Amino acid sequence: MSVTIPRLAAALLLAATPLAAQSNVERVLNGSFTPSHDYDLLHQRIELGAFDWDSTAFDGRVTTTLVSLRPGLDSVVLDMGRTLEVRKVMPACPRRGPRCAALAFARPGDSLVVRLPRPAAFGDTVRFTIDYHGRIRQGYGLYFFKADGRPHRPEQVYSGGGTDGNPRWLPTWGGPADKITWEVIATVPARFTVVSNGRLVSVRPAPGGMRTTHWRQEKPASTYLISLAVAPFVKIADRWRGVPVDYYVYPEDSARARALFGATPDMMETYGRLTGVPYPWAKYAQVTVADFIGGMENVSATTLVDWLPDARALRERPWYLRSLIPHELAHQWFGDLVTAENWANYWLNEGMAEFMPGQYWGAREGRHAEQGYYLTRYRQLLEHDARRRVPLATYNSNVVYAKGALVLEMLRTELGPERFWAAIHHYLTRHAYGTATSDDLRQAVLAATGQSLDWFWSQWIYSAGHPAFAVSSAYDAAGRALTLTVRQTQVDTAAADSTGLRFRTPLVFRAPVALRVGTASGDVVRRVTLDRREQTIRIGDLPGPPTMVAFDDDNAVLKTLAFEQPTAWLATLLERHPHLWQRAWAIEQLATRTGDSLAAAALARAARGADYSLTRAEAAGALGRFPPAAAMPALEAAARDTSAQVREAAMSALGDVGGERASAIARGAWLADSSDLVRAGALLALARLGGDGTRDAVLSGLATPSYRDVIQSAAITAAVQRPDSGLVAALAPQAGSQPLVTVALAALTARGNADARRALVGSLADPRSWVREWALEAAEDRLEPDAAVAVLREAAGRTTRADARAAVDAAIGRLERRRS
Ligand SMILES: [Zn+2]
Repeated sequence: MSVTIPRLAAALLLAATPLAAQSNVERVLNGSFTPSHDYDLLHQRIELGAFDWDSTAFDGRVTTTLVSLRPGLDSVVLDMGRTLEVRKVMPACPRRGPRCAALAFARPGDSLVVRLPRPAAFGDTVRFTIDYHGRIRQGYGLYFFKADGRPHRPEQVYSGGGTDGNPRWLPTWGGPADKITWEVIATVPARFTVVSNGRLVSVRPAPGGMRTTHWRQEKPASTYLISLAVAPFVKIADRWRGVPVDYYVYPEDSARARALFGATPDMMETYGRLTGVPYPWAKYAQVTVADFIGGMENVSATTLVDWLPDARALRERPWYLRSLIPHELAHQWFGDLVTAENWANYWLNEGMAEFMPGQYWGAREGRHAEQGYYLTRYRQLLEHDARRRVPLATYNSNVVYAKGALVLEMLRTELGPERFWAAIHHYLTRHAYGTATSDDLRQAVLAATGQSLDWFWSQWIYSAGHPAFAVSSAYDAAGRALTLTVRQTQVDTAAADSTGLRFRTPLVFRAPVALRVGTASGDVVRRVTLDRREQTIRIGDLPGPPTMVAFDDDNAVLKTLAFEQPTAWLATLLERHPHLWQRAWAIEQLATRTGDSLAAAALARAARGADYSLTRAEAAGALGRFPPAAAMPALEAAARDTSAQVREAAMSALGDVGGERASAIARGAWLADSSDLVRAGALLALARLGGDGTRDAVLSGLATPSYRDVIQSAAITAAVQRPDSGLVAALAPQAGSQPLVTVALAALTARGNADARRALVGSLADPRSWVREWALEAAEDRLEPDAAVAVLREAAGRTTRADARAAVDAAIGRLERRRS
């Protein structure tokens, strides 16, 4: 008998086996990360019911059809979380004839081994039905929420497993490399709506006030994309070229939903036009749920967080609209239609999904919107990279989002849009409803454009890091020539990890860059390929002395740049250069020259007059470190800018600059600005500066509702900075609105504030369960164990509720274990 190693165990083995002899590149290319199994899963019929919110449990019946891929297959191994209790496994029984017997099964670890009645031959079809009872630990595969009176928190259950969670609630093959079709048939109380993948087959009444909803995913997809969402949703129906586009939200979110999600059909149209592949699924649903991590691209039924921007927030480029919706939609092509064969190639899913929104906003709003989107990813990448430097193609990489997007943007710049999208079209059509590896993308580029680009794949996909350029310049007035000395200073010092694997950073990157030298009589542009540790480039025949040098003029290469330039050059670069990366780099250099009036003047000019809001905002933010006389006039103007982003940056800078005038402007913005973000920024500035009316502003901010509680959070921060008994008393009544309130009370308690301690004890004994949970978490996290135990004991004496006492006792037990 042979039993395949299930995927979860395989992943553990992989982590424990020393593979020092194999480089990361070889492991990715030779499929080390793709687990094996002995069958081709074809179809699963998933029937669910008897959901019990008290015990977070349900009953399941899954009928699985598969084809044996080995001669003499006597057992089928599926991934199945150990907490799921298998009641019976039945073979497909003939309608007439002898009764058939249940199949034997075993449950090693997180898998189910089904013994077949007789070995299946290679190519035989096998079918069996698993009856099981699922007990779920909250958040492991499924999330259950009871109606507990908390506002905007209806009763619900949904699957939220990400890439590895579905076997925690249903028996299946969890790996991405076996695509199947499926049906989800869920019976729930009639007050709920059930959303799942594919086409809606039927909704029928069932006995006992129940309703059965049947969804069918008719095109093959990976099983990590199976989804279930059950809640009292309303459906807002939209359409893209005849395809249903539905937004499932809580009833109170209906108006927000139409305004927020209304851009979806236009995004679908744009993605279809760019890729040449129309939206590939039967419908597109977006479903909002409670306490979710962000979004999950379940095929044709994306799951999203339930905090929809209100009308004010919608005007301010919220992350939800700018990034989240277009990211998850892009996955319907990249991830769902063509799926990474294994998680070492996960960047193909996440990099493309993170790349596409920049293309959408570029198509919709122009190059600055596009450049601004990637500039945000660039900053994220530098943060990730400082923590852990890994290649795109690797298992468990944390740079797949930002670096993936930036590398694809580089590829688009290298190839130009026509050839880039032809390659992407080839990739999507060649692997549609199938899987791909990083090398398949290389082959698609080769097939569509004839370009092998071996250096590109090697350094950007399989190697770690990016070039760190250090540039110096010398101008020869007699010869009218500028000489640039360019060094690549990145180092390759990463240590090997526990498996002996070491990620290599190339000491030399190949970098095709344009160098733009500005002069009073026009620009000279020289294209060069940097491919040595150090090289010298002489740009002769200049019409006059340089007034500006733009290194990598169109930001074609992901890099960091150290290049000491005269302030006048930087000022010209900031004023003249159309590319936001160049402007942002110039602002960063100028921001450090706080004693230089030319630098202040350049930033002030940009803060007032740059033609894109992000540049004005960054310049305004940088002015905070300059002397008030140089900064204030531009900050006054920035505080009246049409863009909330610029006004918000101005508030932060005013808090840095300080003074009577700065306080007055911030107070004005707090009272009258139309943007909640700006008002929150104004409140923080006021709290830093003190002065008349600050305390009243904080008190009022504590009780002011806003999207994502930005204003209240600013007020809480301010109250913690300058607590008095009145402010602490005003914090306590807000304990039910968001977790930060009890975090603040716990932080103040830790500093010996008796008022805060009383309020924290009150929150721990609050009749509302979610307030008690937040307070408990805050007390455990923010207080020393001894202090936490004392506070909890006091709270336990104040409550008569059994569940509250049990939770407090459990927390005391945890803390005492931590103490000993
Ligand atoms: Zn994603």
